[in-house]
Amino acid sequence: MSVDKAFREMVRNEIELQLKPLRDLVSRLEAGTADLDRLRTVAEQLAPLAGAVGPLFGVSAGSRGSPAPARRGPGRPARAAPAPVAASGGKKRGRKPSSEGGARECAIKGCGKPSRTKGYCAAHYQKLRMLEKTNRRPNNWVDYAEPNSVEDIKLPRGRAAAKALAEAKNAG
Ligand SMILES: [Zn+2]
Repeated sequence: MSVDKAFREMVRNEIELQLKPLRDLVSRLEAGTADLDRLRTVAEQLAPLAGAVGPLFGVSAGSRGSPAPARRGPGRPARAAPAPVAASGGKKRGRKPSSEGGARECAIKGCGKPSRTKGYCAAHYQKLRMLEKTNRRPNNWVDYAEPNSVEDIKLPRGRAAAKALAEAKNAG
């Protein structure tokens, strides 16, 4: 006989009693009919029990009363300093490496668009490439010509265009 044993028996019965709602809840969870309020109630019922009987069975009751992890208050999350914006001034593909700052205008007179490649705007550089390909590039259409300095040329259209192309081909 042992007082200790009797006490443990009593505690075990008490636990059984206390656990019954939990068992009921588990079966209801399995049946999908449980609600969160019920779950909270059971948890509240079990919390002091765990604290009381835990030490008897060598279980640390440390989970009770231990400080909750610090929570941030409401509001915007504290952010680390924003990453520095990528510095401009890096190498830019297709542009004249220069001190001109990119504000330069197209080399073609009266165009006025910003130059993009070799001193010409996108459209005029395309035209330059086409003229070069068809052996009709004017001598003054040089790379990196001064802004607004090169006379545009009017390309022939239709039959005249075909003729001009043929002549250019023969000339080349
Ligand atoms: Zn242009």
